[in-house]
This record gives sequence, structure tokens and C-alpha cells, in this order.
Amino acid sequence: ITPVITIDGPSGCGKGTIAAKLAERLGWHLLDSGALYRGLGHAAMAAGVDLDDGEALGQLAGRLDLRFAGQRLLLEGDDISSAIRTETAAAAASRVARHAPVRAAMLDWQRNAVRPPGLVADGRDMGTVVFASAPLKFYLDASLKERANRRYKQLNDKGVDANLVDLTDDLRERDQRDQQRALSPLVAADDAVVMDTTRMSIDAVFNSVMDAVRR
Ligand code: C5P
Repeated sequence: ITPVITIDGPSGCGKGTIAAKLAERLGWHLLDSGALYRGLGHAAMAAGVDLDDGEALGQLAGRLDLRFAGQRLLLEGDDISSAIRTETAAAAASRVARHAPVRAAMLDWQRNAVRPPGLVADGRDMGTVVFASAPLKFYLDASLKERANRRYKQLNDKGVDANLVDLTDDLRERDQRDQQRALSPLVAADDAVVMDTTRMSIDAVFNSVMDAVRR
């Protein structure tokens, strides 16, 4: 069977960066599951579907042509990779992610991403639900302040205007929604390697992840 490594954690913990580096190093495929939720949130807003209507969102998810072309996310063939990176899209993602029909629709899609030689999957419930039997799981965390700072720097580097106070509020609100929801709440799997990355550089995090992979 094709091996899967899962990397979960709250927004801004660095899991996306680490997952991408790890997939590249191992020559494995990469699944950014958050992008799917963002894509659905984006599509729902565009189609005027209520973000609180789970049934309608599930139906929308079922008929959407949402897929990756390499690292690009395509919605009905249009590249929405940049559009889904806004805080608005992130907030929409965490609202649509609460609904059972949405999570069910996403499940197949995510499991279909498993392809030889292996998959690195990052998200919130990769280790607890979607790939619960994965042999190696990571849970990355960092303080809210540090995560907001990282996000701020990331946006600044891209030349995007950002406000640290607003970013902190957005992250806090989204994390609470992700942690407190009934379905697939954000939590470390029992068998996950848990790392607090608050005072660690990306390289340091990546090195200890690689140490665990080699073991
Ligand atoms: O990881 P990212 O910030 O792109 O995820 C956006 C939102 O999608 C999260 O706040 C969360 O609500 C939702 N999500 C989820 N399950 C995942 C990945 C993301 O519920 N596996």
C-alpha cells in the first residue's frame, strides 16, 4: 500500500511550508486539503450559496469541477490559486468546513489523492479522520502571536497590505471555529508527533520532521 504522512495544525503553524518541502524531498505527491475547502468556499460565494446551508453546500461540492493541476487549484478550469489565499476565502472555508455533507464530499476527493510512491497530506483532520491509519503523523503548533506574525510577514513579502491586529483576530476566530466544531475538530491524533514550533525556524522544524521520517 502507498504510504501517507499527515501534517495537521492550526492556521499559520507552518504545516503548508513543511508539507511542501517534505513532499519535494521524498518525491511524493502533496495534498493541500485546506485549498479544497477554500475552493468550495470561493465557489459558494460566487454562486450565492448560503455558507450556513450544509445540504446546498454538499450538493455544490458534489457537482463542482475542482481539481489540482500541479500546485494550481482549478475551478471549472479557471485558476483560483491566488483568489483562495485571501482572509475572506479562509473565513469562508472554515464556515463551509463545519457541515457533514461537505466533509463527506471532500473525503473521497482527498483519498483519491493517494498515489504511488506516497502522499504528504496537510490540513486539520488528515491524521484523525481522513488518513487515520497513516504510519506517520505530525501535529505542528505555535502561539497565536507567532502565527499571526508569520502570516503578516508572508503577506508583506507578497506586497499585500495587512494589519497585524486584524490578522490576529481572524486567526483566533478561525481556530476557535475549527476546534469547537462537532465534526473533525482540530485536534492532534493520539499517535501524532506533536511539535511546538513557536521558537523554531522553518529549517529546524523541517530537520526534526526529517529525523522522524528516517526513523
Ligand atoms: O489550511 P487552510 O488555512 O488553507 O484551511 C482553511 C480552512 O479549511 C480551515 O480554517 C478549516 O476550517 C478548513 N479545513 C478543514 N479540514 C482540513 C483542511 C482545512 O476543515 N483538512
